Amino acid sequence: MLKINEEMLQLTKDMVAVSSVNTTKGEKNIGLFIEEYLRAIPYFKEHPKQVIVQTLKNDKLERRNVFALLLGQKDKNNKTIIFHGHTDTVGVEDYGALSGYAFDCDGLAEQLKQIELPEEVKKDLESGEYLFGRGACDMKSGDAVFMILLKELSEHVDNLSGNILLSLNPVEENLHTGIIEGIEVIENLKKEYDLEYVLAINNDYTCPMYPGDKHHYIYTGVGGKLLPCFYIQGRETHVGQCFEGYDPTTVMAELIKELNLNPEYSDSYEGEYALPPTLLKSKDLKGWYNVQTAKEALVYFNYFVLNSDVRDITKKLVTAGDKAVRRATADLNIKYEAYCEKSGKDFQQIKNSWSVMSYEDLYQMVKNQDESIDKILAEETVKLQEAGVDKREIPISYIRILLARANIYHPVVVLYYATPYCPHNTLKKDDETVDKLGEILKTVEKEYNITYKMDGFFPSLSDSSYLSLDDSMESIATLKQNFPQMQQLYPLPLEQIKKLNIKAVNFGVYGKDAHKSTERLQIPYSFGVLPNLIMKTTEVFLNVC
Ligand SMILES: [Zn+2]
Repeated sequence: MLKINEEMLQLTKDMVAVSSVNTTKGEKNIGLFIEEYLRAIPYFKEHPKQVIVQTLKNDKLERRNVFALLLGQKDKNNKTIIFHGHTDTVGVEDYGALSGYAFDCDGLAEQLKQIELPEEVKKDLESGEYLFGRGACDMKSGDAVFMILLKELSEHVDNLSGNILLSLNPVEENLHTGIIEGIEVIENLKKEYDLEYVLAINNDYTCPMYPGDKHHYIYTGVGGKLLPCFYIQGRETHVGQCFEGYDPTTVMAELIKELNLNPEYSDSYEGEYALPPTLLKSKDLKGWYNVQTAKEALVYFNYFVLNSDVRDITKKLVTAGDKAVRRATADLNIKYEAYCEKSGKDFQQIKNSWSVMSYEDLYQMVKNQDESIDKILAEETVKLQEAGVDKREIPISYIRILLARANIYHPVVVLYYATPYCPHNTLKKDDETVDKLGEILKTVEKEYNITYKMDGFFPSLSDSSYLSLDDSMESIATLKQNFPQMQQLYPLPLEQIKKLNIKAVNFGVYGKDAHKSTERLQIPYSFGVLPNLIMKTTEVFLNVC
């Protein structure tokens, strides 16, 4: 019989009960709960300095990272493993009439028994092996596993060789500010206690990847994400002279046709493929009704990255812009010619007057003649941030300023990157960490009669993005040059991350339907097998030799 850690189950329920929906006060409350829990552990009562609370900068919600450092006393060994997880959850709107029960695992299960459910959910509910509730799977349970393991290890600290750093962070579900600011603490602790970070384990949820999938997954890295945005300036016209303008929305439509869900743009690494670019926003920038066509448009996409250099991606996207303007112009001419023929007018080819450029190109054009531009852009940023303008749309103002200064009044497409940006990382196949993990998995597979699959990339975004950086410095430089005012809009300690380069893997609790009202955690794996896997990993990686 598989032994379930009942304490982990109870702590998960207790943590689910502390609502910590992203961008609510609850994110502070869960930090307070975790701090109180850790400070009550006898080891940390003796070493209160080793529980560190870091309140996020200028954060109205007073959200906080909570760290706990356990220093093994068996011998002098500075090897350290980081246990990390996020403490926020997504909202509960999806629960509808049951939203009052979303934070009450047992109550919710009772309610679910009364309503009609999809077959698989019903079966899981009746099995008694699943824990329902917001955050039960993603990922209060993962945090609870780490907290209990840390507590157990702290009871035998004389026997522990090496160290454990627990890092529990808010704001994962949108901007990742928790872990990003936490990097500073992780770096400071490294210096203060002379730590050598040998591995970071994230416990974010894992799930079946297709119906009937029996594997358990562990991930040796995480994919990254870019948000490429295209600002399009056309030329407006009156509907009475509709063929005389350059309509930015036709270029936008061609860009969507070219990029949206197109597998040709799907990034790959060692046989794994990222999902293709996905349209997230498309609009013209006209704020009112009149009989003029639009002058400007904006379109942006989610772009997952596994391995590609930002320099290559930028080139590809500028080429996509070129294609889009060529197609839009060709289409306009076909229609205009057909109309002229029908109405007996003379047809004259409409010229392709578009240019397509990256933000870096446009910025350099102006910067070369006008050194004061940086100050102007910085001041503009402060003004727009204070006015609460969406961070993805603030660069529109910079582009307008730059285009005016560069005397560009003809139709133009400008590519830029906006927030959020997530770096990608994965362990390379020849990394000895991969072999070590493979050996550990084999023992666990045998012991529990399960099958693991080790993949290179966690299938969604994760805080592990910020612990290690595979991009070259040149790739990072291209990103920065095309990410307008990155230092102000999305300050990231990229050089620090690159320097730390902590090998980051995701083991994860196991469950189904995260971010849905049927979110549920499979208890036997999560509180039976996983703790054992983590302990075995800890022993192997903290080993002195
Ligand atoms: Zn998560």
